[in-house]
Amino acid sequence: MTKPRDRFYASVLQFFDKAAAHTDLHEGLLEQIKACNAVFSMRFPVKVGDGYMVVEAYRAQHSHHRLPTKGGIRYSNHVNQEEVMALATLMTFKCAIVDVPFGGAKGGVKINPWQYNADELERVTRRYTSELIRRNCIGPAIDVPAPDYGTGEREMSWIADTYRTFNGNDIDAAGCVTGKPVTQNGIRGRTEATGRGVYYGIREACTFKEDMAKLGLGPGLAGKTFVVQGLGNVGSYSAKIMQDEGGAALVGVSEVEGAIYKPSGIDIHDLLRHRKETGSILNYPGATNYGKEDRGAVVEFECDIFIPAALENVITLENAHKVKAKIIAEAANGPTTSEAEEVLLKAGKLIIPDVFLNAGGVTVSYFEWLKNLSHMRFGRMEKRFNHQTYSNFVSLVERLTGATISEREREILTRGGDEIDLVRSGLEETMITAYQQIREVQMRKPEIEGLRTAAMVSAISKIASDYLSLGIFP
Ligand code: GLU
Repeated sequence: MTKPRDRFYASVLQFFDKAAAHTDLHEGLLEQIKACNAVFSMRFPVKVGDGYMVVEAYRAQHSHHRLPTKGGIRYSNHVNQEEVMALATLMTFKCAIVDVPFGGAKGGVKINPWQYNADELERVTRRYTSELIRRNCIGPAIDVPAPDYGTGEREMSWIADTYRTFNGNDIDAAGCVTGKPVTQNGIRGRTEATGRGVYYGIREACTFKEDMAKLGLGPGLAGKTFVVQGLGNVGSYSAKIMQDEGGAALVGVSEVEGAIYKPSGIDIHDLLRHRKETGSILNYPGATNYGKEDRGAVVEFECDIFIPAALENVITLENAHKVKAKIIAEAANGPTTSEAEEVLLKAGKLIIPDVFLNAGGVTVSYFEWLKNLSHMRFGRMEKRFNHQTYSNFVSLVERLTGATISEREREILTRGGDEIDLVRSGLEETMITAYQQIREVQMRKPEIEGLRTAAMVSAISKIASDYLSLGIFP
């Protein structure tokens, strides 16, 4: 029997077909939009310990309708060509949904990153980058990688440095990769971006009173309970911001070592501290433990919102009927299989799909790329000017009314936006607008089942209009 993981690409294509059936586009055009345009497969040797290992790696560029192509690089033992193609496909639709002008791509290196030391990982990363360079597969105008599962700022700065070594004349070289450290041409707010976007997306979904009423829930995020599967970058930031800014209550978590459930609430900061000290989420005070073998029970935990935030194929045909949450908020890529989605939709659940919900990462990557091309930090030109203008207004109001405001109030009212403020505001705007767009498609076409199909219909029509303007397709 094929493992669910191996059916990931098939599942993504099924999502596409389902949406394509709601469009009246030419078959050939749909075929072009669906196809993965290019896949680069590599094998290269890297020195580890006293010997060598041969590393298997990929880069897939799903669609060139807009350039550069964009998508993360994953380091995981489970990487294979089809997985990378599936993830690249999702990137194309993700970018279209949030109006980020890139084609989709994804890279994968088949290693367990936790098994190697920093020197070995640096050699793998620099060699992989060289392989991309020699295939003309990386560059600010060609294909721009970013972090994904198993990679982060450190790997991105190695990539940027390697690229620059080979392209010393490229004034825009810093834009060859995003997710870099702020001190290395990165942007403030990129590390938290996917988790923050998840929060904005869920919060927006919860504002619609009638949608919440259908689920038997009240409007608003405050007071709702949630469970997170996976406490990596995306899971931990989602949980922190859901709790601190959204007032939602974390009641369950799963990680590689097991799962915990505590209906009276888990403080995410406490839990992260506990994990750092003990090496495990297990034995968190007052919580019920589920060992490594039973951690799959996380899917069944009683809560309002379930947030899968790790890898693909978490909700499958085997466990979909056991999901208790009313809202499934897909922070990971591909956590729900196409068959499982049918079961969840029949059960009346609201699925906030990955192609929308985790697009915060690529959205802020877009801001970082723009920053690199403009060679200037956001806010640098206007911050002081805005501050002066707002100060003039406040002084005018004080003079006209005779009132005086405190220093603290003046500070809040007159502040010009810093880079982090502008990044967060741009991300918030992006997530809110995209959600409203998707919801509107579904309202307009009630025959469309679920927000994923609505999102895909919207994305397909945006990509199609790019192709149609080329005049190739009828
Ligand atoms: N790896 C992230 C994703 O799956 C981010 C991609 C990017 O920033 O280009 O969306």
